Amino acid sequence: MLWKTPYMAARDGDGWIDCRCGNRHWGLHGAAGILLIRSSQVLLQLRAPWVHNGGTWGIPGGARDSHESWQEAAIREAAEEIGIFAEMIDLDSPQFYSDDHGDWRYETLIVRALDHFELGEGNHETVEVRWVELENVGQLPLHQSFAIAWPRIKALIQSS
Ligand SMILES: [Zn+2]
Repeated sequence: MLWKTPYMAARDGDGWIDCRCGNRHWGLHGAAGILLIRSSQVLLQLRAPWVHNGGTWGIPGGARDSHESWQEAAIREAAEEIGIFAEMIDLDSPQFYSDDHGDWRYETLIVRALDHFELGEGNHETVEVRWVELENVGQLPLHQSFAIAWPRIKALIQSS
């Protein structure tokens, strides 16, 4: 018989870090998110008003657990928050954008959606999920950290 660790016990990344940048960040082992691309569009998530930085557009993401890679954490968050699974994503040549604060970092996994991609059910933290043209992303009210990273992430996408 296989011993299965209860799911919640595996979540050891939840918690706040007081970072040397002066801000407080979510994720004891850092955090990771996923940016999905489809031709000239990216998939953005509108966060529920009651969550941290709610009411803003960003990408699915959250705290990384100690036993996970950045890529695994990003894909797990995508599944939990917007019902996207690894089989729907092209993981052969992922790109990463790293926002490294020293005490904490946020890794953005940038990958393409495969042809059979289909949006799943969002969870209670997600109000809406939308494909947005690269050129129009800056017009949305963005999550503060995502807004800062966006110009560099966009440049990375356009150079690939
Ligand atoms: Zn910081």
